[in-house]
Amino acid sequence: MEKGGIIKHDLNKSPKTGNWRYVRPEVDASKCIGCTTCVLPCPDASIEMRRRSKEEKKISPKLAQEKEIADIDYEYCKGCGVCAQVCPMKAIVMKK
Ligand code: SF4
Ligand code: SF4
Repeated sequence: MEKGGIIKHDLNKSPKTGNWRYVRPEVDASKCIGCTTCVLPCPDASIEMRRRSKEEKKISPKLAQEKEIADIDYEYCKGCGVCAQVCPMKAIVMKK
């Protein structure tokens, strides 16, 4: 492959790797500040940012003005824990 080349990726054709997982990352809406630090290091591109739900805004009114929260796609997340390690707010907890 040419150096610096871009690999096109079609998520719909990817194997669903979520069933490899034995620990599950969960985002704590009371701690996530929507900084996106966890998005790029995820080896499975399983984290996207989304708008906070009304319920999540109620959990922490202080963070309600933070429009976005990390959202994990459990169909592909393999539970490696990288996201929990890099989160500056310790907002991702690995649960069995
Ligand atoms: S546990 Fe690993 S694969 Fe799952 S969302 Fe976090 S970084 Fe991605
Ligand atoms: S989970 Fe942590 S690293 Fe990811 S967006 Fe929220 S605060 Fe940032």
